[in-house]
Amino acid sequence: MAEYIDKDLLLKDVGDKLSPIYEAFRRVINSQPIADVAMKHGKWLDNVEYVTTLAGVKMRCVVGYKCSLCGRTEIKKEPYCNCGAKMDLE
Ligand SMILES: [Zn+2]
Repeated sequence: MAEYIDKDLLLKDVGDKLSPIYEAFRRVINSQPIADVAMKHGKWLDNVEYVTTLAGVKMRCVVGYKCSLCGRTEIKKEPYCNCGAKMDLE
């Protein structure tokens, strides 16, 4: 999966550290094509298992969370899934 950076933050960080070559670097960065990045949004769904107790009572147990887009499971709700989705839907 491609990774994306914040151009303005990178230029500021480089400019602060490498001022003699900063202008040349800034021109190279500013000449790069701009990606049209569409953020995927998803939500964590309860990953449920059913357990029957010794008394014969069937109980619903949440054993983790499942990504609504890719189905990946996690033990806790993370802000992003490994598929790249921002998990901000509820
Ligand atoms: Zn996912």
